[in-house]
Amino acid sequence: MVIIMRKLSVNKIKAVILGHAVADALGVPVEFSSREELDESPVTDMEGFGTYPYPAGCWSDDTSMTLCALHSLSDGELNFDDIMQNFGKWYYKDEFTPTGELFDVGNACSTAIDNYFKKHLDAENCGLKGENSNGNGSLMRILPFSLLFPNDYEVIYKASALTHAHLRSKMACLIYTMVLNEILSNNSKEAVIRGIEKAKAFYEEEPEWEYFERLPIIDIHTNIMTKTLAKPKYVKQSATSISISLSKNKMPNCFKNGLMKLFIIMKN
Ligand SMILES: [Mg+2]
Repeated sequence: MVIIMRKLSVNKIKAVILGHAVADALGVPVEFSSREELDESPVTDMEGFGTYPYPAGCWSDDTSMTLCALHSLSDGELNFDDIMQNFGKWYYKDEFTPTGELFDVGNACSTAIDNYFKKHLDAENCGLKGENSNGNGSLMRILPFSLLFPNDYEVIYKASALTHAHLRSKMACLIYTMVLNEILSNNSKEAVIRGIEKAKAFYEEEPEWEYFERLPIIDIHTNIMTKTLAKPKYVKQSATSISISLSKNKMPNCFKNGLMKLFIIMKN
């Protein structure tokens, strides 16, 4: 089967991936903080340390695994074995990390990578299928696939299933893909709604949609839903949080500052 990869300008890909890295790095020092703690002491700048002993600008597993996939896809071919090989370079050899040291790896991701390298399972059968294996590990790294295969739902599902093979995780990745691509074609709050509506229509008869039913009722003109969300431990809550983040009208100052600092770090 020939799989068609969307052609996107290098600048556009760089911009989106850089945005992902900045957002990831902004969150690293406060990972595992509660919403109440963050309400009290919000992130306003790119900071270092906190949860991990690393300086400002360090991205986490989210971006490392995103870079693993992007690096593999950059030759224009979709090869899940090659992507798993890169995951192995990251997990076992600390490549694709900002500090040369691995930190912050989820259980499902580490188990899936071990499934590939130690149990020698096929790449497409490495992901965990249990309901309790619905962390954020595939959603956090799905971006390159969402960018390059916006309409190939099978690719999105298979890309998720490298580590997270439960339908809920795969759906979160596809919903994210739909929302992201609406935003890329028309950057507005309405684009977020359109993406969610598209996903809702697509999953009209899917019982698992009940786990995402908060998405369509988010009032994108306020942020009040953020107060009522639980800590985004599981993928459904992350998907909801992401849609809120995407719906912000203006780029927050902390994001702008973070972008500048990350540029400086990368330049050095
Ligand atoms: Mg992380």
